Order: sequence, then structure tokens, then C-alpha cells
Amino acid sequence: MECVFCEIVKNHRPEDVIYEDDDIIVIPDKYPVTKGHMLVIPKKHYRNLLEVDDHVLSKLIIITKKVAIAAMKALDAKGINILSNIERAAGQVIMHTHIHVIPRYYDDDFGFHWSRVSLTEEEKVLIVKKIREKLP
Ligand code: ZN
Repeated sequence: MECVFCEIVKNHRPEDVIYEDDDIIVIPDKYPVTKGHMLVIPKKHYRNLLEVDDHVLSKLIIITKKVAIAAMKALDAKGINILSNIERAAGQVIMHTHIHVIPRYYDDDFGFHWSRVSLTEEEKVLIVKKIREKLP
């Protein structure tokens, strides 16, 4: 099955492109959750953000910052969410990594459900220890 974003990288209408260079393309999300919702996409196929080369990752976040600032100015957004869903458990649908840039307005309908999980002090300490042990 052809990758949707690899296809967009190869075939896109110039009027759909917010930004483009050798490594990155920025396009409007096909199903925007707010006005100005866009996607920052590496042209090379990476499954998710954790697999992106550091060089491209640096460019991705710098371009993300630039288009986010531009969107806030252009659309008079009052805030912005920047996020990348990694794997299906986190809501990733298209398995070609992308960063969502979501301008926010006081009257928009977008939101997150921030659930809470209860942990004992021992569990918290153990989690910190386990993650530290896996750092390269
Ligand atoms: Zn792809």
C-alpha cells in the first residue's frame, strides 16, 4: 500500500504548500481541528518521530517553530499546540511521521482529555529509575 505522505511529497499542488525545502514540506491538515491546523512532514519516509535522523529532526523542529509563529501572526491565534502522535496507542493513523501545528483560539472546540493516574511514591521512584537506566 502506498504511503499517503510519500505520495503528497511526490505529487502536490503548489497552492497547498505552506513551506518546502529539500527535506521538509508543510501542508494544511486535510481534516483540520482548528483554523490553520497544519502538518510538518519530512520528505523521507520515517515511521515515527523516534526514528528520524537527528539532522532532519533538528530541521523539523526549527521549521515547526517558524510556521507556528507565522500562523499565530497571520491568523491572530491566541496559542498553539505542537504534537506528534507516535504509534497507534498514541493516535498515529498515517505511519509516516508528522508534527501537528494547531493554532488555538479561545472559542475553538479542540481540546485534550488529560486523565490522571494514581501512583504511589515507590512507583514514581521506580519509573524514574527504569527510564534513567534506558537512556543511552
Ligand atoms: Zn511515507
